[in-house]
Amino acid sequence: MSALRDLYQQVILDHNRNPKNFRSMQDATGSIEGYNPLCGDHYTIYVRMDGDVIADISFTGAGCAISKASASVMSSMLKGRTRSEAEGMFRDFHGLVTGVAAPEERMERLGKLAAFAGVSEFPARVKCASLPWHTLHAVLAGKSQPISTE
Ligand code: ZN
Repeated sequence: MSALRDLYQQVILDHNRNPKNFRSMQDATGSIEGYNPLCGDHYTIYVRMDGDVIADISFTGAGCAISKASASVMSSMLKGRTRSEAEGMFRDFHGLVTGVAAPEERMERLGKLAAFAGVSEFPARVKCASLPWHTLHAVLAGKSQPISTE
């Protein structure tokens, strides 16, 4: 298990160092700022919808390695997905980081998102990992006010 844990740590380190889709978006159809005051994480998530499909997704902002890697992995996995696929992944991911689901069962389906399974052992970091997802959820719901994890 420790080799697997190391591999997943590497995913988080790599995405923190070289985040994917780390840019603002001029033609976004929606964007929202999300804050995690406990850690100081703050990001803006941008989405361009094409009908029911997430045609493009990006983010800007700053925060800890876990929050930035989570936003990066999320953006790389959700491009081209439908709104309902994104919401389904959000539910799976939330179960994973809150330790509700058995990680082994979901790792295959979640792909690189499974890298965040270890977060469930650190309750203070759950909000770091889930902040980008909560923010995206608000964008997809058509909201525009900034959200906070508190
Ligand atoms: Zn954080």
